[in-house]
Amino acid sequence: MAILNSPLPWDATLEWRRNAACQEGDTDLFFPIGVTGPAVAQIEAAKAVCGQCPVRAECLDFAITSNQEFGVWGGTTEDERRVLRRRWRATQRAARAAS
Ligand code: SF4
Repeated sequence: MAILNSPLPWDATLEWRRNAACQEGDTDLFFPIGVTGPAVAQIEAAKAVCGQCPVRAECLDFAITSNQEFGVWGGTTEDERRVLRRRWRATQRAARAAS
């Protein structure tokens, strides 16, 4: 998501951003308005960039654990990430309960 241009604070845990395939792209591509009409092609185009990205896993992990609600991150849409985040939170709760 043109992540180098994002306002997120930079720290060592986010060094992966230096290898983002979207770092010189159009940030707007990764923030479609809605999920129908022209947004469908926009989402597919953003996902195509993510599909070539060497840090896709890191990006998706960051988006889920930091609850990035908007935009395409790690090749996933907002709705797709909500599902993944629910699963991640359930795993976190189960781990806490087991400890
Ligand atoms: S996975 Fe997609 S949004 Fe994330 S850094 Fe790579 S190209 Fe950007």
